[in-house]
Amino acid sequence: MTPTFHLIGAGPGDAELLTLKALRVLKESKVVLYDALVSQDILDFIPESVEKIYVGKRAGAHYLKQEETNALIVEMAFKYGSVTRLKGGDSFVFGRGQEEIEYAESFGIDSYVVPGISSSLAGPTLAGIPVTKRGVNESFWVVTATTCSGGLSKDLTHAAASSATIVVLMGVGKLELIAQLFSMYRNEDEPIALVQDASLPTQKVVIGTLKDIVERANERDVRPPAVIVIGEVVALGKESEIVAASSNSKMSV
Ligand code: SAH
Repeated sequence: MTPTFHLIGAGPGDAELLTLKALRVLKESKVVLYDALVSQDILDFIPESVEKIYVGKRAGAHYLKQEETNALIVEMAFKYGSVTRLKGGDSFVFGRGQEEIEYAESFGIDSYVVPGISSSLAGPTLAGIPVTKRGVNESFWVVTATTCSGGLSKDLTHAAASSATIVVLMGVGKLELIAQLFSMYRNEDEPIALVQDASLPTQKVVIGTLKDIVERANERDVRPPAVIVIGEVVALGKESEIVAASSNSKMSV
């Protein structure tokens, strides 16, 4: 039988934001390789009998190199006949999911992908920020602040020059540069928000303007992972420490 590889997006952290399909595949798995951004509540859904291997990275501290993760996927697929990879958000949004699929397929492994709710959507939504609003904007863009070479993405300049709502991932460490760049193209009173730990009990939302966001973020001690949202729609958002609309009740599945 051809070995299989399931690439699953776990969503932003709240276990209730996992899809039913993801949950089914997790329960049927033999081995799950998971990332740092996958929450404990989600790992708790994986049966005891399933082998769980942490392959995550955190800014600064690398556990496994991407090549090592790729090799492990292939090794486990041949050992167990199937392997599941669990990633934060959606695997194809700055998640290197395609690299893993291509590597697995080069060994003749069949690949399947299960979409996840990306933090780029869940972050703004859980802060009460509609990424689009009729009459206010015509698009929302998702941009990484950090390119593979570590520099600031040139797309951020195009984003700043547009009238779109901009969602920036991997940008907390570059907040000052981002605010400066956007101030060159947009009004310095334009609202900007940071949503840290979106969907988790530790969720923190900080809203300011391009002018004062760095100071506000420092005051509130914002840390990664956080998404940055820039645009007029941000003014509709709500600052809160806890996700207002979420109940803490756990799914009984
Ligand atoms: N594939 C992921 C993104 C991976 S890049 C997704 O679709 O969500 C990692 C970046 O995602 C972090 O630097 C941060 O900007 C963002 N991120 C991931 N999870 C988050 C969360 N729960 N809250 C806020 N930002 C998050």
